[in-house]
Amino acid sequence: MIRVGVNGYGTIGKRVADAIEAQPDMEVIGVAKTQPNFEAHTAIERGYSMYAAIPERAPLFSEAGIDLAGEVDELVAEADVIVDCTPSGIGARNRELYETHHTPAIFQGGEDADVAEVSFNARANFDAARDADYVRVVSCNTTGLSRIIAPLKEEYGVEKVRATLVRRGGDPGQNSRGPINDILPDPISVPSHHGPDVKTIFPDLEIDTLGLKVPATLMHVHALNVTLGDDVTGAHVRQLLENENRVYVIPEGLGIDGAGKLMDFALDAGRPRGDMWENCVWGESIGVNGRDLYLFQAIHQQSDVIPENVDAIRAMFDLEDKQASMELTDRRLGIGI
Ligand code: NAD
Repeated sequence: MIRVGVNGYGTIGKRVADAIEAQPDMEVIGVAKTQPNFEAHTAIERGYSMYAAIPERAPLFSEAGIDLAGEVDELVAEADVIVDCTPSGIGARNRELYETHHTPAIFQGGEDADVAEVSFNARANFDAARDADYVRVVSCNTTGLSRIIAPLKEEYGVEKVRATLVRRGGDPGQNSRGPINDILPDPISVPSHHGPDVKTIFPDLEIDTLGLKVPATLMHVHALNVTLGDDVTGAHVRQLLENENRVYVIPEGLGIDGAGKLMDFALDAGRPRGDMWENCVWGESIGVNGRDLYLFQAIHQQSDVIPENVDAIRAMFDLEDKQASMELTDRRLGIGI
């Protein structure tokens, strides 16, 4: 049983903790938080031991009626691995703490690639994280792109990827983010930094990306054009993507015409927090012109990276091979529509 500590219990951390607890070969021994907010109370209700991420703030937890199990360095010392889910940039600062205790760690996509030895996506490069001490699970957008590129590359070869990323302005709780009434090229300079991030997974890939930010909180939407190595048919590509458990090809006729209905669909299906871990590709959008493939996909930024964190732990500790790990993760979380 791998003993996991989760440092940073926000949008990603709370989901990672629940996903780990759902697995038979790993357990959460504690979570570290900076403040006793609503998420801290939920963590206690779910049975997680609470550690103070910032020792000086420990008294705030007892004032809020939360008993602490200790401070974050005790959690780091006890854990076999830490999943760092702190805000962008803090993870890199935390690496020294993990090194001091010789505790391996997983970082998230908000960190620069050099925070870790390996940037990770289970479908694309599971084995690269075998026996690594420091691994970065790539961002929600890079995860979404990697899950499409990997099977296309294997089946047809990929000459070039061009992707326009229409990104949500912020997560639902991030009320200081925006825009609230605008459409922002973001970044304005093109191509955007997202392409180079995808190249941390596929170093030889030709990829250009453009980014926009819009007043939405639900999901990102990608408009993709992939020049493949072979002439293909839309039907063949569709079958290929339907065979991927972490890709949901939205059937025609369901009336799912946007991110809002996808989120309703996940809630109706009783998914925890309404999460949609799979890439959601509109079947009707899969269009082919010679070697050029086009499609639209929606990415639930809050949850698509969660199964990847579970698989990263299995790769680092050599617990299972890629296929066995992904299948186990998916079965335990209920991934695959
Ligand atoms: P978040 O702000 O929702 O959660 C971060 C948590 O860490 C908060 O609870 C915060 O209080 C806590 N924290 C702050 N400083 C800390 C410290 N020093 N020690 C311990 N905890 C601390 O952020 P998030 O959205 O969960 O993002 C976490 C990471 O995941 C970032 O690298 C981000 O880029 C990445 N990521 C986010 C998303 C997304 O859409 N939210 C998607 C994929 C990856």
